[in-house]
Amino acid sequence: MSHVLHRDLKHVLPRAVKGEGAYIIDSTGKRYLDASGGPAVSCLGHSHPRVIEAVRRQVGEIAFAYSAFFTHEAMEQLADILVAQAPAGLSRAFFVSGGSEASEAALKLARQYFLEIGQPQRRHYIARERSYHGNTMGALSLGHDVNRRQTYEPLLLPMTHIAPCYEYRERREDESTEQYGRRVADELEAAILKIGPDQVAAFFAEPVAGSSLGCAEPVPGYLARLREICDRYGVLLVFDEVMCGMGRTGHLFTCAEDGVTPDILTMAKGLGAGYQPIGGFLVHDKIVRALESGSGQLKHGHTYAGHTVACAAALAVQQAFQEENLISRVRDLAAGLRARLDDTFGQHPHIGDIRGRGLFIGLEMVADRETKQPFDPSEKKWLKLRQAAFAEGLVCYPAGGCVDGKSGDHILLAPPFNLADSQLDEIVDKLGRALGASL
Ligand code: PLP
Repeated sequence: MSHVLHRDLKHVLPRAVKGEGAYIIDSTGKRYLDASGGPAVSCLGHSHPRVIEAVRRQVGEIAFAYSAFFTHEAMEQLADILVAQAPAGLSRAFFVSGGSEASEAALKLARQYFLEIGQPQRRHYIARERSYHGNTMGALSLGHDVNRRQTYEPLLLPMTHIAPCYEYRERREDESTEQYGRRVADELEAAILKIGPDQVAAFFAEPVAGSSLGCAEPVPGYLARLREICDRYGVLLVFDEVMCGMGRTGHLFTCAEDGVTPDILTMAKGLGAGYQPIGGFLVHDKIVRALESGSGQLKHGHTYAGHTVACAAALAVQQAFQEENLISRVRDLAAGLRARLDDTFGQHPHIGDIRGRGLFIGLEMVADRETKQPFDPSEKKWLKLRQAAFAEGLVCYPAGGCVDGKSGDHILLAPPFNLADSQLDEIVDKLGRALGASL
């Protein structure tokens, strides 16, 4: 018996002993094709030599230099490489330990910014229904996942939630895609006006909604409309690219595809690709200038901010992206995977929708394809599917839908960017058998 307090106290988990390319091998020798990188983390697979070597080298040179006392090369180069490719205006990077801390820090930075520029009354936040931004108290307050929130509800920050962009279920038949996008984006304006335009600090959204909505994409014009509304009322726009960013959608920054620049952009997961725990955020120059001419200090910071080894790993990940041309490989692989999924599951009686961008693909599972009726949440089809996929030797990332039936269970696929074409077939074959065994 182990003394670990596992997250799941009822099931015994396989013991992972080795990572080999896209595979995880457990202590019985069983191989799992990791088609989701856990929760969209391992974008380079599990044994990338360049990243492993960078980690080794950095530990040997200097393992820890407290970033409140020292700067270091890996952190500086990582900031340079990210800012050079980021939408214009995002001019600085700060590195934290993961995605929740990135959300938390962005929330705090928005507050600090408005204090610095003499608008202390701006302390309200808006985020979206059925969203997830992390598990610490501020991040949990931003999110709207009932299951994750309910235990802590009395402790959470006040929050206004508006509808997400979720065309599959929420576009009306009498509206075009563009009209739908405008209608849901305009919920932001209504919320700002209701709270009081000079009271709102920031609006948070994922450009492509990952774990909460199974890769629900923004319809054309939606993100731009959010930007327009934030600008109209002086509200900061924060894009959470923790899951969808870092090349996963076929662009290093997802929002770049839509030509929309946020004021703060959060990242994690693919940033360190699982080789080290690291997150971060990019900040717009106007915020940097406000801090520089104000208190001269970023008020957020944990001990491991900008950790040397984590930054070295993330830098090596970026270098691998460039040397191996992996972001364009994402686009090629994505076309192949989507075609295979559409062919195999496009008419599946229990797959209502296949969606997403790049290698960030969601399949929504339904009880009835015609009516889009979700499975009853008590059936926990998503969990059965995960277990069946494990039995087949496939790691995917299924999640339950909304308890009120506003979204169905879904499966998220987020395979590594350096996958072989033949492994696309393996994903689809194994997933097909797992669906057959569980639905
Ligand atoms: N934001 C989004 C969109 C996420 O998907 C997640 C994690 O799944 C987080 C934030 C939190 O990241 P972490 O689990 O690294 O704290």
